[in-house]
Amino acid sequence: MKAALQTAEALLHSILQTVPDAMIVIDERGHVESFSATAERLFGYSVDEIVGKNIRQLMPTPQREQHDGYIRRYLDTNERRIIGIGRVVVGQRKDGTTFPMHLTIGELKLADKHYFTGFIRDLTDQQLTEIRLKELQSEVTHMSRFTALGEMASTLAHEINQPLTAISNYLKGCQRLLERIEGESAVVLRDAVGKAADQAVRAGQIIRRLREFLSRGESERRVESLPKLIEDASALALIGTKENGIDVSFRLDPEADRVLADRIQIQQVLVNLIRNAIEVMLESSGRRELGIGTAWKADGMVEVSVSDSGAGLAPEVAASLFQPFVTTKQKGMGLGLSICRTIVEAHGGKIWVEGRPGGGTVFRFSLRAAKVEEPSLVE
Ligand code: ADP
Repeated sequence: MKAALQTAEALLHSILQTVPDAMIVIDERGHVESFSATAERLFGYSVDEIVGKNIRQLMPTPQREQHDGYIRRYLDTNERRIIGIGRVVVGQRKDGTTFPMHLTIGELKLADKHYFTGFIRDLTDQQLTEIRLKELQSEVTHMSRFTALGEMASTLAHEINQPLTAISNYLKGCQRLLERIEGESAVVLRDAVGKAADQAVRAGQIIRRLREFLSRGESERRVESLPKLIEDASALALIGTKENGIDVSFRLDPEADRVLADRIQIQQVLVNLIRNAIEVMLESSGRRELGIGTAWKADGMVEVSVSDSGAGLAPEVAASLFQPFVTTKQKGMGLGLSICRTIVEAHGGKIWVEGRPGGGTVFRFSLRAAKVEEPSLVE
């Protein structure tokens, strides 16, 4: 019996040393039982530092505060939200930096004890990321292209409408003048000018219809969990940031929980804002602090903020940031923020920007909080 136990232990030890994914076993209180060699490298903790400690220290806020509750709820209800399913979540290393990871959880019942095994794949690596995040990414990028197209068409429509109105006014003027002139050619001219005016009106109608179609949009709003939206979007936006030493902190207000939103569109807003924040920080050599926060507001709205410690706004674009085609980047389209504004306003919210005390920029937007009695369609 003792020999069998020793063999089992040696076997487990060898598995933990060689398993390519990070593997962590916890008990039903969330305390770490085993921690593989890859997990040590990934999180920066040694086995001795972490075994016996609560697993929550490997995750950022708000999961950190909620994790004990997640286990309890599972043990009470047996309702699976992640076990056996696998999800992209954010992990936190010993030095406080965070990274996107794919987590699969298995369950083990021994006598009357429960254990959970977590397999973790680091998604910072671009290649793996491409596979694991493909689904989430393709949803969001597909949507981004669609909205970028819409934004461009809508701007063009607006721009073209003005000269068309001018053309039509001039033609009406010409028609009036021609009415005072006698002769055969005046009749022909009046007819031609009249037809030209009709065509200008028709072009205007086509454009108006296009704008109406675009502003109607395809947005599908549901009650969504804001922390979950933020978790997914930041995992997506943080891809490839491991080597750049970006320190991400989340300050999520527990009251700002459910919102009325089109999940993919709001993720698109968040990814745009986070990517912009990362880009601006990569250009400066100073601290790289990305802050993502939420706050519940008394007027039935919640506010989401994305702050960075970058160089701040370039004065030449500061006043027109949310207009289409405004950019300071060589390869920029200048559409990101105007798309953000279109999406947020279509949700009944506002988006604005402020300077960050101590340097950098804070983008904020508001969303409608979902009322408690509204049925949850999440999970
Ligand atoms: P693009 O990224 O293609 O330039 P955006 O609409 O997303 O388009 O951004 C427009 C401009 O706003 C950027 O070119 C940049 O000058 C400025 N900007 C956006 N986010 C930030 C930020 N976090 N800090 C400083 N400037 C920013």
